[in-house]
Amino acid sequence: MIEISSDLINYAERKTSPEPKLLQELKEYCYQNYSNSSMLSGFYQGRFLSTLSRLIAPRRILEIGTYLGYSALCLAEGLTEDGKLYTLDINAETNRVAKSFVERSALKNKIEFRLGNALEIIPELAETFDLVFIDADKVNYSNYFDAVIDKVRPGGLILADNVLWSGKVLSPSDDDSISLDNFNKKIQADGRVSNLLLTIRDGLMLCIKN
Ligand code: SAH
Ligand code: CA
Repeated sequence: MIEISSDLINYAERKTSPEPKLLQELKEYCYQNYSNSSMLSGFYQGRFLSTLSRLIAPRRILEIGTYLGYSALCLAEGLTEDGKLYTLDINAETNRVAKSFVERSALKNKIEFRLGNALEIIPELAETFDLVFIDADKVNYSNYFDAVIDKVRPGGLILADNVLWSGKVLSPSDDDSISLDNFNKKIQADGRVSNLLLTIRDGLMLCIKN
């Protein structure tokens, strides 16, 4: 078993295909203008999302938590010709920035923004999803899972980000870490999915609907 040092993580990143130029610009814009820039998926996780999406070539993707559109642009890379990604967020200001970057991408016609509370928008989406990415407020992860599970096709994927919450799930003490630990327990006990908790970055729960 190897110890993953930051040097080794850097090595893995250098030996991974680079991100498209627009995403590099978006990431730099985020670091310069936002104090909560760590919310953005970033290079390595972004390449993972892109690779996973390209492997399954989804026709319908739902993203819960757009922020500046970084992960949306990564996930959209794998969409079919007639594919569409819906991305939901409650913050009008970051949504404007996300739209301005997506507008410059060749994928712009495949990405649909919805502004508002995700828990209110999800029931209005009359679609069957091949891939769902949960990445909004952590206290609602279980609610998002319950809201989407019947809209995912058998064999479809549900991914949830930050499920290790910087390690705080080991001794949960605040609302976010308690909710995420409860979410992980709930998924583990839910017979509708098979799950694999990936230790990529801040933890990614990968579920396949049975
Ligand atoms: N997926 C993005 C990061 C998302 S950050 C990426 O990887 O690049 C989390 C986002 O969830 C924030 O933009 C926040 O505004 C949004 N959010 C929080 N609560 C929400 C809610 N109830 N409904 C929709 N979006 C919400
Ligand atoms: Ca995240």
